[in-house]
Amino acid sequence: MTRPLRLAILGATGSVGQSTLDVVERHPGRFEVIVLTAHRRAEELAALCRRCDPKLAVVGTDAAAQELRAAIAGAGLRTEVAVGPAALEEAVVRDDVDAVMAAIVGAAGLASCLAAAQAGKRLLLANKEALVVGGALFMQAVRRGGATLLPIDSEHSAIFQCLPLDRAQWPAWIDHIVLTASGGPFRTRDPATLHGVTPEEAVAHPNWVMGRKISVDSATMMNKGLEVIEARWLFELPPERIRVIVHPQSVIHSMVACADGSVLAQLGTPDMRVPIAYGLSFPERIESGATRLNFEQMAGLHFEPMDYSRYPALRLAYDALAAREGSTVLLNAANEEAVAAFLDRRLGYTDIHRVVAGTVEALQPALGPIGRLDELLALDEQARSHARQTMKALP
Ligand code: NDP
Repeated sequence: MTRPLRLAILGATGSVGQSTLDVVERHPGRFEVIVLTAHRRAEELAALCRRCDPKLAVVGTDAAAQELRAAIAGAGLRTEVAVGPAALEEAVVRDDVDAVMAAIVGAAGLASCLAAAQAGKRLLLANKEALVVGGALFMQAVRRGGATLLPIDSEHSAIFQCLPLDRAQWPAWIDHIVLTASGGPFRTRDPATLHGVTPEEAVAHPNWVMGRKISVDSATMMNKGLEVIEARWLFELPPERIRVIVHPQSVIHSMVACADGSVLAQLGTPDMRVPIAYGLSFPERIESGATRLNFEQMAGLHFEPMDYSRYPALRLAYDALAAREGSTVLLNAANEEAVAAFLDRRLGYTDIHRVVAGTVEALQPALGPIGRLDELLALDEQARSHARQTMKALP
């Protein structure tokens, strides 16, 4: 009998983390959970530890570690508790970890993703911000470490599933790729009323159930912008060969337009367990638990051209990708700060764009070459600080 695939699930308490555990638990004996991580939500992580009995649980703060230790004491678990970013990096390079599900939200996931890549792990990448910030450095670590990089974002998984297993054939196959976008909750709302949007309205995505940050990004279309940047690195394509179309039903998850005129698409119900299951079992396929598509009941598949005036964040992302190296770091950091402030009711919805555009514009001219992680992180911090100042100065 083959050994179970031994997993580290980073961001286990989040939306992708929980969907991953759902798939894992459908296949007793096929996977073993070695590491689970969270940031602050110790109670939720304790419940997951009781379910999976990992060898190690990592949290972000001392207070969370204390709470977690108390919550699992006496449960007879093998789980040790560790704290902080260094513990996160140590957790992913362990010899008894074969595969890492990278489902931390934001650039906070970059260092652990890089460590997993350098250690040659099978890396299931949901944490798109890590690739948006890490860019060339990240892909170099994947190549040098001999890691297997498997996209988990549904659009990138769709494209990956349409392409041959042998990556060497990709350049000859691909003419361009088409990322689909649902349009989010405000696709038909009068733009003049967007300034009054509340966090509750912005996170109410019509098709997908996701974490709060990515839900806001889906409403502004910054999520699609981050995905364009992610696709640039995953599939080694220039921006003009990465197109975006609005497809409100989210049935087609993305498409590859081939050199011969064929268009290949991957379809399914909008359920993250499908790309997660493919990442876990690649190149095999396993039950994901997702509801199957019913073509008889489908009302139709619709497409609309992207309206860049309604969604200026997408244009900003394309521009950052085409501009100097480091621009996408500025874009991502300012966006993370602005979205957090919006969710906290400290910033208006339409001000998210003002803060991000203003930060990129102000800091872009001074960008120099970036070759190391500490340089990326310094730039990330500079952009966050600029974004925070901009927000303070807003009326
Ligand atoms: P959630 O907000 O639901 O979960 C985020 C997870 O990351 C939680 O476990 C959280 O811990 C942890 N976390 C937050 N901040 C830190 C930090 N500073 N250091 C370490 N861990 C941290 O996010 P999602 O699951 O929605 O998204 C995760 C990633 O996957 C994102 O990059 C997103 O873009 C991507 N993605 C998500 C999809 C989805 O359907 N949700 C679809 C495609 C991509 P705690 O609970 O303690 O706060």
